[in-house]
Amino acid sequence: MTSKSSYVARVNQFDAIQFDKDILKILREQLFSTIQSLSPTILARFQPEFELLLQSAVWLGSIGKQFASFGQQLLLICYDKDELTRSRLCLHFLLTVLPKYAKDNAEQRLAGKEWVNTILSWTENTLLILSVVNFFRFLKSGKKPTLIDFLLGLDYITLHSSRRRDVGYSHITRELIWNGFMELLMVMLPLINYKKVQRNVKGFFSKHAEHVSSKSVAPVMDVHTVCAYCEDRPTLPHHIGCGHIFCYYCLEGNIMADQGFLCPLCGASAVKIMRLPVAD
Ligand SMILES: [Zn+2]
Ligand SMILES: [Zn+2]
Repeated sequence: MTSKSSYVARVNQFDAIQFDKDILKILREQLFSTIQSLSPTILARFQPEFELLLQSAVWLGSIGKQFASFGQQLLLICYDKDELTRSRLCLHFLLTVLPKYAKDNAEQRLAGKEWVNTILSWTENTLLILSVVNFFRFLKSGKKPTLIDFLLGLDYITLHSSRRRDVGYSHITRELIWNGFMELLMVMLPLINYKKVQRNVKGFFSKHAEHVSSKSVAPVMDVHTVCAYCEDRPTLPHHIGCGHIFCYYCLEGNIMADQGFLCPLCGASAVKIMRLPVAD
């Protein structure tokens, strides 16, 4: 026999709501992607009806049958069956399913009308404010976390009251470590000058002698000349005296990112940017 307790931890009630939302979301995605692959036009036309069917099926399979939503069942809580009379059950079903259907329907079929949008936004805002007020009341009293529960006067009860809620501390620790690591990376990554690191690594492995640019050579451009950096036809050709030609933007961009930019082909340092002399 199961022992019952009228005390239900707030966190369990709140988690149950979150679970319900997630379960519905997963089912909705599966259902809609299946219908989408069968016939996209049917989905576009009857989306509110599919949503209504899905919500009704979920409600009937959970609260209608077990007096507890799937999220509540996962956390071993359920509605007090004595409070959940037939009329309240019907009202619960209508309040769960109909507002979303009315909203979807209005959004899809009466979208162009100004007054519909006004009513929709007013209703949504009012419900949001009421939910927030109800949430504060729930935090204080620990009962009736949703507006529907409040309106119908429904309380939750815990099955297996002796059973403690298991908290996975290993998951929390792992999450904290990951978050810390991500934050560190987000601070550190923009501070690293990749161009400079790249140049240093390249310089370490390549046999190019530095300072090849002791004597300045003005390169000559022909039809086959490509930029030494982007290997494309040079735009606004410039050089740094090593005999290789660059686009102006390739050169200027690289020097802006890394003051010690070297020619990628010969390793000459870019002391001075010079414009390519125009051939006669
Ligand atoms: Zn270029
Ligand atoms: Zn060069």
